[in-house]
Amino acid sequence: MSSQILLSPDGIRTDGRRIDEMRKVKMEVGLLKNCSGSAYIEQGKTKIIVAVHGPREAHPKYLALPHRAVLRTRYHMAPFSTSERKSPAPSRREIELTKVIREALEPAVLLEEFPKTVIDVFIEVLQADAGTRSAGVTAASLALAEAGIPMRDLVTAVAVGKLEGKVVLDLNEEEDEHGQADMPVAMMPNINKITLLQLNGRLTGEELKEGLEVARKGISQLYQMQKQALTMRYSATVQQEEE
Ligand code: ADP
Repeated sequence: MSSQILLSPDGIRTDGRRIDEMRKVKMEVGLLKNCSGSAYIEQGKTKIIVAVHGPREAHPKYLALPHRAVLRTRYHMAPFSTSERKSPAPSRREIELTKVIREALEPAVLLEEFPKTVIDVFIEVLQADAGTRSAGVTAASLALAEAGIPMRDLVTAVAVGKLEGKVVLDLNEEEDEHGQADMPVAMMPNINKITLLQLNGRLTGEELKEGLEVARKGISQLYQMQKQALTMRYSATVQQEEE
């Protein structure tokens, strides 16, 4: 917490956004050729690329499960992604986020269709400005879709937080660092199920409810963009084939 004013009395944030306004988002599907699926997301200054490999035979073999695929994730921040150079060795935070992201994606993937295989999801943060776990989840589900892996729904995520006692959508790094709370939420929007909910800081019961409502609105905007990004990917393929 700090004495810095993060929200003006008329409800404007330090980057000019209103409380319920998301940062500018850009998504692209299918930009890498040496993997089964890939996606890129920019959410404000946060930039992440995700690549999916598989399903492929599990190596080492003891990893394989007889009745379903194993979903493996790796969340990694590039050494140049943060304002101070980050050590390339995996930090405790990266190990935690690797697990959190896997658990956010797992309920959506029909793992039982690919027994004895492994699906790898590599999440590479190129530039971090908060919200990397949520943007990572959003992009990962796009990369899984491009890899042709059947899913119950896409997974879409955003963080909400609290600034000067007000619930706000999609924190940037300054807000994350100096704000009063940070709550990442991931959902399968179409089937209305939450797959990730974390809270750093304090919210009252009312604020928690409001936070979930604000997150849901943000997620619904992101979900439309995900569907658009997938449509763009496949209309580009059809155009290429026609040429
Ligand atoms: P998330 O990126 O999901 O919001 P955190 O709340 O842990 O996860 O991190 C918030 C932000 O703090 C990151 O997105 C990044 O901008 C910054 N950050 C995290 N780790 C580091 C680090 N080792 N060095 C510099 N900045 C970092």
